[in-house]
Amino acid sequence: MKDTIVKKLEILADSAKYDVSCSSSGVSRNRKDGAIGNTSGWGICHTYTEDGRCVSLLKILFTNVCIYDCAYCINRRSNDIERASFTVKELAELTIEFYRRNYIEGLFLSSGIVKNADYTMERMVRVIKELRTTYHYNGYIHMKSIPGASQELVYEAGLYADRLSVNIEIPSEHSLKLLAPEKDHQSVYKPMHYIQQGVIQYKEERKKFKKTPRFVPAGQSTQMIIGASNESDRDILKLSSLLYQRQSMKRVYYSGFIPVNSYDNRLPVLKAAPLVRENRLYQADWLMRFYQFKAEEIVDGNTANLDLDMDPKLAWALRHPEFFPIDINKADYAEILRVPGIGIKSAKLIVTARKHSKLDFEQLRKIGVVLKRAQYFIYCLGSPLSTSYSINPITIRQMLINSQKNVLNPEQQQLSLIL
Ligand code: SF4
Repeated sequence: MKDTIVKKLEILADSAKYDVSCSSSGVSRNRKDGAIGNTSGWGICHTYTEDGRCVSLLKILFTNVCIYDCAYCINRRSNDIERASFTVKELAELTIEFYRRNYIEGLFLSSGIVKNADYTMERMVRVIKELRTTYHYNGYIHMKSIPGASQELVYEAGLYADRLSVNIEIPSEHSLKLLAPEKDHQSVYKPMHYIQQGVIQYKEERKKFKKTPRFVPAGQSTQMIIGASNESDRDILKLSSLLYQRQSMKRVYYSGFIPVNSYDNRLPVLKAAPLVRENRLYQADWLMRFYQFKAEEIVDGNTANLDLDMDPKLAWALRHPEFFPIDINKADYAEILRVPGIGIKSAKLIVTARKHSKLDFEQLRKIGVVLKRAQYFIYCLGSPLSTSYSINPITIRQMLINSQKNVLNPEQQQLSLIL
């Protein structure tokens, strides 16, 4: 590989590492004759290095030159950093070379903005088009659409990318104006809308003509930076909830603010990214997408921010003793899902298993219920009524927080799943 390309790769992969929205789930496509690469139903396998880099997708910027000056971004025009840009051919060849060497399984392509949105977007689209049509690359591609890009270019990108994302970045227009005065939410929502329209339109056409190409089969995603501005978790989750009402919106990513431009006094002074808050938001997001919780239940009028000491499902349960205890042998699926210690799989198994016989603690344990948590919120065959009715929620809270601290180290606490 030429030294100039290696140099560009170093600069542009490094510039891309702060963007976390590179999940690749949600598309399934097998190897085809005469093509290389494939994607799996659960997406490309990827791992993250300690500093957050995604290592199995080639996560790269087309260029780190940018005409904008967003306060929170390392690539802002006023930063004195080394700049580089690929040509379309260079980036396509590099991707293929990495793929052939088995370094990567897909591409996550983003970019700074050169000249204007369409000028940049057009070059990015050419990269992915080249990969698909010249190299017959059939692997995963996630491309970030440039805010303000035209409908034609978004539509064209949708024919080659598996996933498109347009980043909201700062959750409220007011804060965006403060930190990135050259941007507005309108320029984000428009391409989001074009993607949505494209998904619907191509789906309809595929019903009539089987040969109609697929349009962003893995849907769209977006990303918000958490902690660079003062929006509460309630503001953030309400916005996510609205975004999820868009049929094609698959994921909202929450990226803890990393203070790369500490000289800018519009930004908060942080020693480290707010990882626990980021993790709590992901858990709350999970509750909205899979546990039938509404944003305003997770963060109600009295709780503008998520409890950092415990996951949002447990926090909700302790705020709502009137909902518990529930009878595990009679409650409906939605009620069972709300019990701390019971996940989706266990809830489904409970509903099936109790058709044959009434369930007791031992059977629940075998099903996978985490009784250490669930015991305070349920009763079942032969169980004592030792529940949140008879034990004060404050006591339960303390007991569960203590047991969590005893079992998990701090890193595991951040990554714990919701049950
Ligand atoms: S437009 Fe994007 S790349 Fe440019 S400064 Fe803003 S966040 Fe950074």
